[in-house]
Amino acid sequence: MENQKIGTKCVQAGYRPGNGEPREIPIIQSTTFKYDTSEDMGKLFDLEASGYFYTRLQNPTNDYVAAKITALEGGTAGMLTSSGQAANFFALFNICETGSHIVSSSSIYGGTFNLLSVTMKKMGIDVTFVSPDCTEAELENAFQENTRAVFGESIANPALTVLDIEKFAKAAHAHGVPLIVDNTFPTPVHCRPIEWGADIVTHSTTKYMDGHGVAVGGALVDSGKFDWSAHAEKFPGLTTPDDSYHGIVYTEKFGQGAAFITKCTSQLMRDLGCIQSPQNAFYLNLGLESLHVRMKRHAENGLAVAEFLQEQPQVKHVSFPGLQGDPYYALAQKYMPNGTCGVVSFEVEGGRNAAEAFMGRLKLAAIETHVADARTCCLNPATSTHRQMTDEQLAAAGIPAGLIRISCGLEDKEDLIADLAQAL
Ligand SMILES: *Cc1c(COP(=O)(O)O)cnc(C)c1O
Repeated sequence: MENQKIGTKCVQAGYRPGNGEPREIPIIQSTTFKYDTSEDMGKLFDLEASGYFYTRLQNPTNDYVAAKITALEGGTAGMLTSSGQAANFFALFNICETGSHIVSSSSIYGGTFNLLSVTMKKMGIDVTFVSPDCTEAELENAFQENTRAVFGESIANPALTVLDIEKFAKAAHAHGVPLIVDNTFPTPVHCRPIEWGADIVTHSTTKYMDGHGVAVGGALVDSGKFDWSAHAEKFPGLTTPDDSYHGIVYTEKFGQGAAFITKCTSQLMRDLGCIQSPQNAFYLNLGLESLHVRMKRHAENGLAVAEFLQEQPQVKHVSFPGLQGDPYYALAQKYMPNGTCGVVSFEVEGGRNAAEAFMGRLKLAAIETHVADARTCCLNPATSTHRQMTDEQLAAAGIPAGLIRISCGLEDKEDLIADLAQAL
């Protein structure tokens, strides 16, 4: 299994049915699990034996799907969460507490930006944002004695910047902390951050992994490479006794490859309960079975649309990391040489009104606050998600009023281009 190629893993990894068992992953639609003796059940509660007792913590359907995503990313353990937001929160909160500090790329998803700068701040966890393009010296300056994690997105939503994973991993490791990479946009089909030094990978599975716009979900994968014990004073939650489990020490009991995910399941899932429903995990797996086929098409359509837009006089500017001449082209070639994703952003001449009129004329591309779906969709932040902001405020935030984000679906590229051409 280890040596199989990514497409084979998309189809086959995770669930391995035995003789006469269902071919497709069974949906274990049960909140609870039955035991013959209290002693059997007690062992599960003490983390002495592995097994299922309550779906808020773990469910077999979810575990099959998490095992597939873990294999795709090349990790040692993984878990599903109810959303991408929950995945990023769990990844950080599993190793941070009041008084901790995080270094994060400033080019990240708006929801994650709020999570870090508003909600986690209220919990007493501080963040320093750095440009993904910062120099090594600038990155170095962002660290504090209480820094516990470094965070970034492999391809950022919506800015489409590419993270220099090796640069960020090197700085994190020099300070004895892990690098967490949100790999939602390229997916492991196009980028495997662990191969470049990332320690924990997160996903909003809501996007390409599902790929059909049917289920909100998230995932976390541990590379098993970060040596928590070597930096034990920084990560007492993993390296000292857990009083809520009779004093077990996660790194000692479960080893470097499983400590992080076991703690995340047995503490955070137990206490915060952001479990994905088994039904949604089943839908997610259907998406994963064709992920390698779809990502190729999304990226090809994205490139074709970006190349077309770049030639149009009504278009001021195009951003797409797979496009030659894009500021992130070289990083994209290094970290995702087989393709990036299907999301392209571009600015039309004439600002907010021109963008709104252009989008109104589109026939195939629907107006949605979503990306990474089989059907092409687009959004003008100035008239939707960022509506409250003036043109001046938008410009200061790096979002021109005429900016449109288009998520290229799986249609034929000729039809997508014809739709854009008639609307321009
Ligand atoms: C959408 C998204 C999230 C949030 O995921 P949800 O599933 O909507 O909670 C996090 N990171 C990135 C890069 C995203 O695109």
